[in-house]
Amino acid sequence: MLQLHDTATGRARELALRDAGKVSMYVCGATVYAPPHIGHGRFVLVYDILRRYLEYRGLVVDHVSNVTDIDDKIIIRANQEGRSSAEVAEEFEASWWQAMDAVGALRPTAIPHATEHIDGMVELVGELIKRDVAYETSDGVYLSVEKVDGYGLLAHQTLESLRAGARVEVIEEKRSPSDFAIWKKAKPGEPTWDSPFGPGRPGWHTECVVMALGLLGEGFDLHGAGQDLIFPHNENERAQAVAWGRQFANHWMHNGMVEVGGQKMGKSLGNFQTMDEFLSTSDPRAYRMLVARSHYRTPIEVGPSMVEDAELQLERLDNFGRLMAELERDLPAGEAGSATAERVRGLEARFVELMDDDLRTPDAVASLFSAIKEVNTAAGEREGQHARELGAAVLRLFGVLGLEPPGAGEPVDSQAADLVRRLDEARAARDFEAADAVRAELQGLGWTVETTQQGTRIYR
Ligand SMILES: [Zn+2]
Repeated sequence: MLQLHDTATGRARELALRDAGKVSMYVCGATVYAPPHIGHGRFVLVYDILRRYLEYRGLVVDHVSNVTDIDDKIIIRANQEGRSSAEVAEEFEASWWQAMDAVGALRPTAIPHATEHIDGMVELVGELIKRDVAYETSDGVYLSVEKVDGYGLLAHQTLESLRAGARVEVIEEKRSPSDFAIWKKAKPGEPTWDSPFGPGRPGWHTECVVMALGLLGEGFDLHGAGQDLIFPHNENERAQAVAWGRQFANHWMHNGMVEVGGQKMGKSLGNFQTMDEFLSTSDPRAYRMLVARSHYRTPIEVGPSMVEDAELQLERLDNFGRLMAELERDLPAGEAGSATAERVRGLEARFVELMDDDLRTPDAVASLFSAIKEVNTAAGEREGQHARELGAAVLRLFGVLGLEPPGAGEPVDSQAADLVRRLDEARAARDFEAADAVRAELQGLGWTVETTQQGTRIYR
């Protein structure tokens, strides 16, 4: 079974499943106040690959990822632009899915919106006040972190060191600088909901804990997010669950950041690239390739040379896809021998071994590319059946990473097939003038013509 680094324990451990055959996973999702940037794209792709892998292993995955559609940043933008928070949220949620669809991310199996779960949040806040772990101030309701067992578990810090590092805030009614708002009382011009502690809205940390427990139930298997959310967001989610007496996530996974020149990419730093900007200049699959080629916990750089390199790899992959389509079409039916079956089993076993070892996708990608070399050699040496069966396994496994090539393209019609035959004959007869003429004719019909060891290959 999958060994996955767990932020809470600081080491890799087996992802234990609450329900046999089923994975319950919550991933902190989008706060929809601006177009998604490539840091968002990375976390979406990391959890997309994890999910595809779990499904490949035969598990059913409940993949819940929220949309925060009420938040300070949404309200600020709405007020600046003179429209409602709902309008702002709707616009940027649409741009979020557009970008994530473009990189081929599977939609989560459930997408709760914060504003649909306010009742549950009001209930939680009331319960925490009743349990005397939360208190009301003039501007909201705060959780008293000193009353929470193990506060600082995810951050791997004690309450004392967290307190020393906390920003001094002006809210004098807060009992400890680490206490955080679970309910924010209404200010003029803000959307509000009624509650026993006055009209207002929930804090962001409260949204996720209520939606995760509401949709997945107590003791769900895995909580994921970017490393930038470990503290305070995830720590504060956990704190509320503990204070509520509910068993929260069994395992915590966090992915690394996107960096620019060794610095975290961020809006405030001005070194920021949106998904749309990336997608307007690059193959959408290049980003998935970049993400898969890096270990999910390490920071990545998304500079022009890395993107170019990823696109070159995609080209190799697409050429391979076309070779496979040709083998599928041209080879007579038949089966390769037991040595091939053994090699396919070995390739799949290695893939599983690497992925089970804390998702070593860079090594998995490298292993698949070296298998592509082997398939190309086999095809060149007329070991077509071996090439076809091993190649099919390579395609399947690339599919687990969401990187399957787009397929064979258009089928080759009889006119084009005839021209390919004439081109090969002309080359065999070393009549290069005739070969050039036939090549030009094919190109005129829109075909891309490649000369390979195995003869002419065309696609369009
Ligand atoms: Zn969250």
